[in-house]
Parts: sequence; structure tokens; C-alpha cells
Amino acid sequence: MGSFKLGKMTLSSLFKQPETILYPTVAKKAPAGLKGHIENDIGVCILCGICEKTCPAGALRVDKKENYWAIDRFRCVQCAACTRACPKACLAMRPSYMKPSASMSEDVFFKPAPSEDELAAKEARKAAKLEAAMKAKAARQEMQEG
Ligand code: SF4
Ligand code: SF4
Repeated sequence: MGSFKLGKMTLSSLFKQPETILYPTVAKKAPAGLKGHIENDIGVCILCGICEKTCPAGALRVDKKENYWAIDRFRCVQCAACTRACPKACLAMRPSYMKPSASMSEDVFFKPAPSEDELAAKEARKAAKLEAAMKAKAARQEMQEG
């Protein structure tokens, strides 16, 4: 490359926007087609563990007893298999960049405890189901006897 051409390039670069940004201070724009990262709407999640069994990278951990869903983002290969397997459709790929991390750790999300209203609604649903089952059983017995 001639010294004239090199000098021209050096000069023009003085007036151009830099190619790099001060990430993460400056937010990086997500390019089209970016797969992004997995997010879980933990309020909707029922901690069934299907996503954990589906994940080919072993990136997910679900503990119903301890009430949490966890993801190791360093293992996740962004295949989206878990989003397709989830029966509650609470997993989604968000096309944005995560904040950088200085340590390899899991992101743990605890499911919030149900409110009084939710507990009451659950009990009411259970009672209604039981009542319907009893009625159906009584109707069957009546048919058999009569
Ligand atoms: S499959 Fe869906 S509902 Fe089940 S634990 Fe995973 S995120 Fe939660
Ligand atoms: S996107 Fe793929 S690798 Fe990542 S957590 Fe879901 S199933 Fe596992």
C-alpha cells in the first residue's frame, strides 16, 4: 500500500465515527437475527422441569421443592429448544445482550409465593373439581342400579 493511500486512510479515520463502542456503558444495538438470551416469566412457570430435561447443554436447573428455576448462561447455546418444550409458554428468547459478568454463576429465579386470592381461587377450583367428580360418580351409580 502506498504511503499516500495510507496517509489518506489515517486522515479520514480522524473524522469518522469509531468502529467500537464503550460497551456496556453504551448499549449495544441488537443486529437483526440476534438470538439473544433466555428469559423466564417466573410468575407463570409451574416448575415442571420439562425445560431442564429438554436442554441439550444442561444449562437449566429446576427445583420445585426449593421453588426456583435457574439458568447457567455460560452453558446455554441459544438453541431455543426449551422455549418450544415449555407447556406454559413462559420461556422466550429476548434479542438483546446480557450485562457482562466477571464470574461464572447461574441466574436463579425464585417463584413468588401465591397471594391470598390465588390460594383461595386454587382451593375453589379444587372443590369444584371434587364436586363435579362426586356428581359424576353418583350419576354412574344411579344408572347401574336403575
Ligand atoms: S418447562 Fe416452562 S413451566 Fe416447566 S419449569 Fe421450564 S419454564 Fe417452568
Ligand atoms: S436455549 Fe437451548 S441451550 Fe439454552 S437453556 Fe434453552 S434448551 Fe438449553
